Formats: sequence, structure tokens, C-alpha cells
Amino acid sequence: REYKSVALVVGVTGIVGNSLAEILPLADTPGGPWKVYGVARGKRPSWNEDSPVEYIQCDISDRNQTQSKLSLLTDVTHIFYVTWGSRETESENCKINGLMFLNVLEAVIPNAHNLRHICLQTGSKHYVGPFQFFREIEPHDPPFTEDLPRLELPNFYHTLEDILFQEVAKKEGLTWSVHRPDLIFGFSPHSLMNVMRTLCVYAAICKHEGAPMLFPGVKELWNCYAVASDADLIAEHEIWACVDPNAKNEAFNIHNGDVFKWKQLWNVLGEQFGLEEYGFAETGERISLAETMKDKGAVWEEIVKENQLLPTKLEEVGAWWFVDLIFGGEVSIPSMNKSKEHGFLGFRNSKKSFISWIERMKADKVVP
Ligand code: NDP
Repeated sequence: REYKSVALVVGVTGIVGNSLAEILPLADTPGGPWKVYGVARGKRPSWNEDSPVEYIQCDISDRNQTQSKLSLLTDVTHIFYVTWGSRETESENCKINGLMFLNVLEAVIPNAHNLRHICLQTGSKHYVGPFQFFREIEPHDPPFTEDLPRLELPNFYHTLEDILFQEVAKKEGLTWSVHRPDLIFGFSPHSLMNVMRTLCVYAAICKHEGAPMLFPGVKELWNCYAVASDADLIAEHEIWACVDPNAKNEAFNIHNGDVFKWKQLWNVLGEQFGLEEYGFAETGERISLAETMKDKGAVWEEIVKENQLLPTKLEEVGAWWFVDLIFGGEVSIPSMNKSKEHGFLGFRNSKKSFISWIERMKADKVVP
């Protein structure tokens, strides 16, 4: 088969990597027909087996392994970098993520002679600072626009951008784009930060135990406008940047383009899991999911067995720390004007997006 473009998706089993793996090979995807290579550390998971992707098992934090496996991919035309490594402190995050990204670029750029574009995915923490300093510093005044100056804090997103600019400059004609999603709604049993999967697991446990599903966030978040980024929409945005000359060498925010309130999505979650009692705990004490869920491993095992789910451990599917962190305050909204002005008009209805990913997770037996 003749391909017009060849994608290397680094992080192919992640929350956006999975959407890229599904969308790129479709017949009507811009820039296609696409051949797709997909990289992750783990063995190819069963839920990814049907996608027409050449799966490459490689730990990109290992320089030798990355050189030996990725330097062979001489036909790559576009890189989608949709992965990250998590460490305790932000300076450690800068180190490990810088290393991972550089390993990939040093293996691919000198060998892939037709390489044309690199998409780097970062996120809204570009504007509010890294998790380590979350809500401790004064962020910029929202809505966030892409031209705001960097906050003066260590941030692995800055490290990645600097490596991108430095490496791209070494090859004439090679272009780049940076994509900054907000909270991502998507599928992936392998994602480190998956709010949808975590909330679905919480809902399933509440249902199983006949317990009320109480909102594990602060009242300000329950009531304020919030935004989310659908994983398929992010994939479309990244593919757009690969093919549209107006999107070259720019950074863009990417979210669904509408607003919602968590109190509304909480009702949707309750209905989707057939719960009788759900809502905000008016007792005054904020609920910590890490605390409430810490002894529920055996309950989850029972749920998995009873419903013949994909075998998972609770600590793999419940990213409690993540929800506890992001549900700790109001949302600051990034602007979507720049993407629109440059020609990307994609959007999602966040409520429908939320429901569609719940349905997907049920269909793939991640949750009951
Ligand atoms: P995920 O955690 O969903 O996916 C990571 C992917 O990379 C998986 O396929 C994983 O598979 C693979 N991977 C991890 N480490 C390695 C490694 N050393 N070598 C090879 N593959 C590896 O990623 P996200 O999409 O969440 O993150 C990408 C970027 O998006 C990050 O910068 C993140 O901060 C940002 N972002 C994420 C948001 C979210 O809600 N998730 C929100 C906004 C921004 P395996 O484990 O098998 O290796």
C-alpha cells in the first residue's frame, strides 16, 4: 500500500495516543493515507490489538534502546509526542522528561530523511504551574492565551519546548506545533492521569457497596464553569497542525470549546452507573479519594471478577491522587481563540463527550 504520511505516535497506549491510533489510519483522515508506528513500554494490550498500528515496545528513557529501535524507522514523516514520565519533584520531572524526549528526537531526526513535523503535547499547567506548586503561586489572569510569558518556576513543559526548538532548528524545513489540552476526557486503561476512568471506578465501587457517591471536590469547583478536552478532539487538533500551513511553528490551547459544571456531570455519572444517591457532601469535610479508596482493593477485585472485566488492580485504574489534586479549586479557562483564528474549528459537547467515554469504557470492560 502507498502511504502519503508516516506517523510515529510516542505513547500510543495513553489517553491521546489511543485516539491517534484509532483516527490516523481512517480513510478520510487529513494527510492520509497514514502508516502508523506506535511506541509504549508495556506489552501490546488486548484493547489495542485491533488497530492497524505497528507496535514497538521501547522504553524511551533508555537511550540505547531508543536508538536501536527508533533509528530504524527511516520513513517517519510526523512525530506525535504524547507521553510523559512522573517523578516526585518538578526538577526531577524536567530531567526525566527532557531525557525521554531528547532520546526520541536524537534517534529519529538524523535518520528519518522525510521527517516534516513534530507535534508536542503539553497542557494547561503551562499557565498555572506544575503539580508540585499547584495553587501555591499566583497564575496568570485567565482566560489564558498562548502568548503569555512563562511563569518563573521549574516546569517540564518548558524543558520539552526548549528541546523541541533546539532540535528542530538542526534540520531545514522541519516544523513543530505545541498542543496544550486541559483536563482530558478519553479512554485508556494505561493513562497515568485519567479522570474519566478514575471517576467511573469510584462510581462502580459506590454502586457495589450501596454507598452514596459524594463529590470529592471543593464547593467552588462544584459550582463554577469548567472545561475539558476530548481525546479525539486533541488528536484531530494535532493532525490538523501536521497538515495546515497556518498551524506551523505555533503553540495552541485545545479544549472542547464549551463550558460545563461538575455538579451537572455528577448527575450524569450517577445516572450512567445506576446510583440512587449522589451529590455534594454538605457536612463541610472535603472527601479525599486517596483516603476513601485506600482499602478498596479487594472490593475492586470482586467487581472485576463478578463482571468479567479486563483484569486490573485498583491502583492501576484509580488515579485518586490526580482527582484529589485537580478537584481542589476553581478552574481557570484557557482561550480557544488562537486555534480558531488559525483555522481549527473543531469542538465537542462536553456532556456528550463525557457520556461517550463512559460508554467506551463499559464496552471495553474497563468498568461494569
Ligand atoms: P498517558 O499517561 O495517557 O500515556 C502515556 C503513554 O506513554 C502510554 O502509552 C505509556 O505506556 C507510554 N509511556 C510512558 N512512559 C514511557 C516510556 N518511558 N517509554 C515509552 N513509552 C512510555 O499520557 P498523557 O496523554 O496524559 O500525557 C501526555 C502529556 O499530556 C503530558 O505532558 C501530560 O502532562 C499532558 N496532559 C495530560 C492531561 C490528562 O488529563 N491526562 C491533561 C493535560 C495535559 P506504557 O506505560 O506501557 O509505557
